[in-house]
Amino acid sequence: MSKKLLLKDAHIEGIRYFETYRKQGGYTAAEKALKMTPDEILEEVKTSGLRGRGGAGFPTGMKWSFLAKPEGVPRHLVVNADESEPGTFKDRYLMEFLPHLLIEGMLISSYCLGSNVSYIYIRGEYSWIPDILEEAIEEAKAAGFLGKNIMGTGFDCEIYVQRGGGAYICGEETALLESLEGKRGNPRLKPPFPAVKGLWERPTVVNNVESIAAIVPIIDITGAEYAKIGVGRSTGTKLISACGNINKPGVYEIDMTITVEEFIYSDEYCGGIKDGKRLKACIPGGSSVPIVPANLLLKTVNGEPRYMNYESLADGGFATGTMMGSGGFIVLDEDQCVVEHTMTLARFYNHESCGQCTPCREGTGWMYKILKKIEKGEGKMEDIDLLWDIQRKIEGNTICPLGDAAAWPVAAAIRHFRDEFEWHIKNPELCLTQNYGLANY
Ligand code: SF4
Repeated sequence: MSKKLLLKDAHIEGIRYFETYRKQGGYTAAEKALKMTPDEILEEVKTSGLRGRGGAGFPTGMKWSFLAKPEGVPRHLVVNADESEPGTFKDRYLMEFLPHLLIEGMLISSYCLGSNVSYIYIRGEYSWIPDILEEAIEEAKAAGFLGKNIMGTGFDCEIYVQRGGGAYICGEETALLESLEGKRGNPRLKPPFPAVKGLWERPTVVNNVESIAAIVPIIDITGAEYAKIGVGRSTGTKLISACGNINKPGVYEIDMTITVEEFIYSDEYCGGIKDGKRLKACIPGGSSVPIVPANLLLKTVNGEPRYMNYESLADGGFATGTMMGSGGFIVLDEDQCVVEHTMTLARFYNHESCGQCTPCREGTGWMYKILKKIEKGEGKMEDIDLLWDIQRKIEGNTICPLGDAAAWPVAAAIRHFRDEFEWHIKNPELCLTQNYGLANY
């Protein structure tokens, strides 16, 4: 049984409301933090080893330490709640059922960073959640945990919720800041980084919802105790949103010491593959990370079990491994078509490209068209190499990571499932009515 830090009270009726949250010990971490200095909080976060839970896995304490502090210039904390990565829905769960955990984490983080005005930028499709968050903000304010002179410390903090317009690209931190400023959500060239010039050119920290919620248990149990949970550089707990062909889709909190096999087959988590079918492949960290076939998913190339953590999932690099990413765990059973799946993702990235960079704007469209051709049984053998060539030319040649995110799924699909692409091309009639199945995977 994994240790629960974030979701331990999620089952309690009424935990969404201040009174119940407070009865369960809510806001005691904030009270503790407000008696500490900002530097002491920063040290706790660094000691905890917390890595950003949005996808990149960058150490949160280090990110906070980069924040510029020019005299007289306001600083901001912006929570990235633009959770749009296909397969990822764990931040939605946190905000919907535990809004005060996020608000408390924001209060502690804002105090540490010196942000008197902080924001939650939430994806437009989560249309019912801003009301939940705004109600929680009002409750926290009424109880003296937000607003002026919080708990008599002299620290002021306001939190505002901003709805996005439904563009995936606004999950990229600089596009998010552009959108928050009221402009089109186009990613900015970096440097300057947001820590120096962020929202309205002021020093800004942009963090994922889960990262900020994790600040509460870090302060509660101390960074050192948090770092003891998990393994290696994968400290603490991680939320995983599991979906696809499994018996128990949902949001799970794991401590990153369990194996992938346990996560998929144990009744505590996914409960096995639906209808007793066999596992074909999985995308363990949201649609942008490489797909891996079952044999490489359950074991590394050295025959070691693969674990649900940053290092083990990436073992072997892109050739044999994948990434923890955002924790959006998508499972494919033996009946799923990898070509069709890759085409669906290519269509998504093409649709969501902001169009600023030629390799992304044009390349994602070409990849989608070629994949569509192959999927319809109209492809040629040379199309596979052309696809490979296009994704190579996108990766690393764009302003923001959407280009890489579009290229990696195509590269991994060709690398691990080339036989299935060739089967589609050799069997143009058959591929319209049948699936390639499991073959050698
Ligand atoms: Fe826009 Fe794509 Fe370039 Fe990102 S990589 S800035 S989404 S065109």
